[in-house]
Amino acid sequence: MANPLLKESALKLKKAIPLMLKHQIPTTPTNYALWYAYVDEKSPKLNQHLDEIVGQYNTCPPSYSERLYREYLAEPAAINVIDMRLNLDAMVTELSQSLKDTNLDASQFHHKISNNYDKLNKIENEGFSIEEVLAVVKGLVRDSNEIRVSAQHFSAQLAKAQSEIDALKEQLKQSEHDMHYDALTGSLNRRAFDSDLKGILEQQPQGLCLIIADIDHFKVFNDTYGHQLGDQVLKAVTKRLTEACKDGTKLYRFGGEEFALIVPKSQLRRARQLAESMRRSLEKLTLKDRRKGETINNISASFGVAEYRVNDSHGSLIDRADTQLYQAKHLGRNRVMPIIR
Ligand code: GH3
Ligand code: MG
Ligand code: MG
Repeated sequence: MANPLLKESALKLKKAIPLMLKHQIPTTPTNYALWYAYVDEKSPKLNQHLDEIVGQYNTCPPSYSERLYREYLAEPAAINVIDMRLNLDAMVTELSQSLKDTNLDASQFHHKISNNYDKLNKIENEGFSIEEVLAVVKGLVRDSNEIRVSAQHFSAQLAKAQSEIDALKEQLKQSEHDMHYDALTGSLNRRAFDSDLKGILEQQPQGLCLIIADIDHFKVFNDTYGHQLGDQVLKAVTKRLTEACKDGTKLYRFGGEEFALIVPKSQLRRARQLAESMRRSLEKLTLKDRRKGETINNISASFGVAEYRVNDSHGSLIDRADTQLYQAKHLGRNRVMPIIR
């Protein structure tokens, strides 16, 4: 293989996967990063900690994985995707190397076949005995058998490598997806928000507006109806807000019960109107509490809107939208700020 780093990374992956299978560890980005680091053996503390957990549970429960991941790995999701890329590259390089090796084999076989062919010619030209003819034919059978076995072996290797590559590609796609989407609501997450906002601020910030929406009294809602129904509200709110997105506006789950909307090439008045229509739509949202047989119709959210100003940074724009959101909460919730006449 051309690059020793790639080879090393592929080897580690090959060590990590069987361990993960053995301990029934789901192949999530977190777990990949964790077990990759484990076989890497660069952090003895991590290995010791993980050994203890596996010793106790025979697996590593997800809550522990998350903790270890946060404790021992910096920016692990990003590292993981880079690693997987490297592994994928390594596999492809390995595969093409074994194709090259086969070409070498094939030229050796070619040589053997020409030898046999020469002998066959001699049979015709020089009048060999029947024993000599049989010996040539035997040689031919032996050589062609070798070719057949080698071709079978190679095609099995090829199929195995191909399926490893397919599985890695699928996992890579999944981790890239997981990196940018929120698992509960399926909407884009904070990481995607940060990167999209940064991109727009760098490229075409004129008219960019930011809306931050926060569900009102959601703690009380959870306390009253339970966390599970709270999760249903988050999903329903996501669906409503997504449906209201238009003209390139994108929705992100900003944190717990907070959402952000990036409204490109707009203006404060228009973004405010959009927030207002979203607010009204959420107000009408109803959910059924099956346990209590009640219809829930008191969901609302407050909105803060800000428009880009020259020299705005990522942080200053968010701060202004946040200040407006705070105002909306302060003035009694279920409203959009600022007020524009
Ligand atoms: P306010 O109107 O001032 O925003 O009040 P609030 O209760 O909504 O705000 P607070 O920040 O006090 O509480 C937010 C609550 O959101 C607490 C937390 O349990 C809940 N929450 C955050 N993430 C989730 C989640 O994923 N699912 C559920 N069910 N609740 C969540
Ligand atoms: Mg909040
Ligand atoms: Mg809230």
